[in-house]
Amino acid sequence: MKLRKIVCPFLCLLLWGCSQKEIAQNSNPQQEVGKRQQQLAVEDAYVKSVQYPETSYPKMNKRIKELIHSYESSFIKQAVKMKETRKPEFNVSYESYVKDNRYLSVKLLFYEVLYQKNETVETMVYDTKQNTFLTIEDFLSEDALTQLSADVIQYFQKHASKACDRDAFRTHSAALMENYAHFVLKKDAMVFYFPPHTLFDTTATYECPYEKIKGKTALSSETIPTVVPYEDILNEPVKNIDPQKPMVALTFDDGPSKRYTAAILDALKQYHGSATFFVLGSNAANAPNLLQRMVLEGNEIGNHTFSHKQLTTLSKANIEEEIAATQESIYGITRTYPNVIRPPYGSKNDTVMQCAQGKRIVTWSLDTRDWKDRNTKIIVERVLKQVKDGDIILMHDLYDTSAQAAIILIPKLQEKGFQLVTVSELYTYHPDKVRRS
Ligand SMILES: [Zn+2]
Repeated sequence: MKLRKIVCPFLCLLLWGCSQKEIAQNSNPQQEVGKRQQQLAVEDAYVKSVQYPETSYPKMNKRIKELIHSYESSFIKQAVKMKETRKPEFNVSYESYVKDNRYLSVKLLFYEVLYQKNETVETMVYDTKQNTFLTIEDFLSEDALTQLSADVIQYFQKHASKACDRDAFRTHSAALMENYAHFVLKKDAMVFYFPPHTLFDTTATYECPYEKIKGKTALSSETIPTVVPYEDILNEPVKNIDPQKPMVALTFDDGPSKRYTAAILDALKQYHGSATFFVLGSNAANAPNLLQRMVLEGNEIGNHTFSHKQLTTLSKANIEEEIAATQESIYGITRTYPNVIRPPYGSKNDTVMQCAQGKRIVTWSLDTRDWKDRNTKIIVERVLKQVKDGDIILMHDLYDTSAQAAIILIPKLQEKGFQLVTVSELYTYHPDKVRRS
């Protein structure tokens, strides 16, 4: 399909303004589209962590929600019937890209653990000028498809020779549009995904630079300037912690959140308290300024993995990847590697401990259940009623009610005589009194 050039300068400006907004919201090179949304639940029958972008395009939002809903409903149907000791898990993470201020791509990764693990990928590409979804037929001519298929076969024969002689590989690499239906448009390349049990048992990825498909698509190679470089972190404040006095560690998981984290940081700063923020690697680059503030103001940043999967369901290599990618993502912004890891849902086993490589695995002793109640008063009362010296308090900087509760709790806990310290400080100054679940 030949994409027509815009003729109306006003419309052009309007649309450009629209997609600029899309881009400006995020500085994460893997999450360039929309506002990140997160849902977390620890139910009796299963656990879930869902992340997706909310864009300025209702059609796109509708499709994203429908996809997640359809996967989640069929997951729940199976999960409630399961009689395993291990809790079933539903996890959605995403990547999103903007090309030429015009094409928005979203890749949703579904990871489910029922009796077995199941991973799959869904993609969508939206043209903001025509307000419509585009499919692979819009980009590739039959000739281009034949060439692409030949390139894909050659690439995997070179890089994954072991399985390329199977029938499944031949069937799913053939020059048929449906084989190449999962793709995104990055700035400089079109990326194709082959879901599990097509080319191979697991998802395969093939990146094709636009030059290679030149003349077959209407895409230009125009690039968009990205993020401003961060300033290096220099000084952390000096603290006066009295090892003889009671202390607790407030911890906030799953952020940072552009909406709520700053308010918590403000309160900590005002009352000279510290906390630990267990951030998601995939989320860190969305708010580099918040991460820098955390460190500069004496808080601790912990590793909460990259995509919030239950680590005990992953292979050793995948656990290491989840941890390492997050370490690097945080280091890239703060020039500091976290020393503490909180595994999602607190799930750990010997393999997880090994993969931590000397970093401390931290759970909690006081669960505020803030994600469930979403009620400031209940959260505050629960903490004040239960809190003891050495507690590690679990909260999430994802909800307004949690941020409001933290703002109330920070001075109240101090009034009760508790010093507010980071998890590492708690272990350093109060090693015998640290409370664990
Ligand atoms: Zn979490």
